[in-house]
Amino acid sequence: MAFTFDNTYDKLSAQFYAHVAPTKVRGPRVVKVNRPLATLLGIDPDALDSPEGAQVLSGNTPVDGASSIALAYAGHQFGHFVPQLGDGRAILLGEVVGTDCKRRDVQLKGAGRTPFSRGGDGRAALGPVLREYVVSEAMAALGVPTTRALAAVLTGEPVIREEVQPGAVLTRVASSHIRVGTFEYFAARDDYKAVAALATYARRRHFPEVSAPKNDALALLECVIRAQAELVARWLGVGFVHGVMNTDNTSVSGETIDYGPCAFLDEYDPKKKFSSIDRAGRYAFANQPRIAQWNLVKLAEALLPTMGEDEDEAARLATEQLERFPAIFETAHARVLRAKLGLRVEHDEDSALAADLLERLAANEVDYTLFFRRLCGSAAGAAADAETASLFAHPTAFHDWAVAWRQRLAREETAPEERACAMRLVNPALIPRNHRIEEMIVAAVVRQDFEPFHTLVEALGRPYEERPAFAFLSEPPKPDERVRATFCGT
Ligand code: AMP
Ligand code: MG
Repeated sequence: MAFTFDNTYDKLSAQFYAHVAPTKVRGPRVVKVNRPLATLLGIDPDALDSPEGAQVLSGNTPVDGASSIALAYAGHQFGHFVPQLGDGRAILLGEVVGTDCKRRDVQLKGAGRTPFSRGGDGRAALGPVLREYVVSEAMAALGVPTTRALAAVLTGEPVIREEVQPGAVLTRVASSHIRVGTFEYFAARDDYKAVAALATYARRRHFPEVSAPKNDALALLECVIRAQAELVARWLGVGFVHGVMNTDNTSVSGETIDYGPCAFLDEYDPKKKFSSIDRAGRYAFANQPRIAQWNLVKLAEALLPTMGEDEDEAARLATEQLERFPAIFETAHARVLRAKLGLRVEHDEDSALAADLLERLAANEVDYTLFFRRLCGSAAGAAADAETASLFAHPTAFHDWAVAWRQRLAREETAPEERACAMRLVNPALIPRNHRIEEMIVAAVVRQDFEPFHTLVEALGRPYEERPAFAFLSEPPKPDERVRATFCGT
């Protein structure tokens, strides 16, 4: 099996990881191989999508040149610091440079116990593996920075969770697995030599265009602040609720990582949270920017002692960067909303127009995705307004707002059809709706029926197109289909 590894993380010093081999499983079987992604990584899709491929993707067959390491990290979970987390069930095979010249980690998630497993079994259950596969690939197709799914395989062994589930392994691809919590791990041990080395490594790997002759830590902080602000703005644009924005689930590359209890909004509700363990709504939809900033403060705290001799000056510079986060986020969010509304030029009153709309969506419990997709029709002509307004409990709430929107559109030169077309490239017809994800998991886990999984992957690969065969996936849930809570289910 040809993986052309080019490993660098395992050249960092020994405290960054533990060498560990995957634990063999009884009966590996491929559920799905992501063929286009395999090709991008320079791996033969046919070789992966075979019984021999299943042996590799389950960890049974060692791969030549693999690092085979579990990474050390710590993290703040729901605001509380846990000094040792680490890859408890994930093993980094190694790094691959794709045909696009980008370096990516290839990791087996659910490959058995590691020195970081604590009480866990080192395994992943089929349900969460399929959820991560579908949602991370959907996010990629939506244009949101994210880790990807290269493959899902069954292990042929059961795992015991709330109920017994088939075991599975997800092959996860990420631009790296360096988290805010990775820096916290070394800072908590007063190992600032490691913090500094990691800052240099991460800055070079993720932000090579930024020069930092003196201070990688400060340069990195600035880059991560931008990347996270951009990421969360994009989450809000598609109605994504991550659900566990702990610092160990916050990638410094600015990719979405760790799809646990994540969910998408159906009706627009800024207070919405789905995760059963997030009782206080810490990670609710509209809280996400604030939490991202909180996580960045933790990154800054870990980096601070490496930011230069003069600690007061370093603290001042770091604070200055952190205080920029809200404005950077607002700018990114405003840009996302302007595109959703079909606005090309930037005007001062645009944010108020968008805010007024969002309030109306919330008050009228309007489906977020459907609304913006129908708004594309309204952009082409007012004949579509009745259908758009019908999503509102009080249709006048839309008609009143649409008067101001059309006045604003009139200030731009774009032709209506052209505007509608541009809007359809940013307002998806399809998102991974929670009830469809649940339905897909039940089919696979309870009935060994993987048809819904394959259908979702196929449909969500082109979320901005309206294909009749997948029209049913654009429908919001009926009252009895609504998903009220999601579970980590690790
Ligand atoms: P997560 O909630 O998936 O972000 O995981 C939090 C921490 O728990 C990480 O250190 C994981 O590696 C670890 N963990 C989660 N599930 C398991 C498992 N089944 N076995 C061992 N460690 C696990
Ligand atoms: Mg995690």
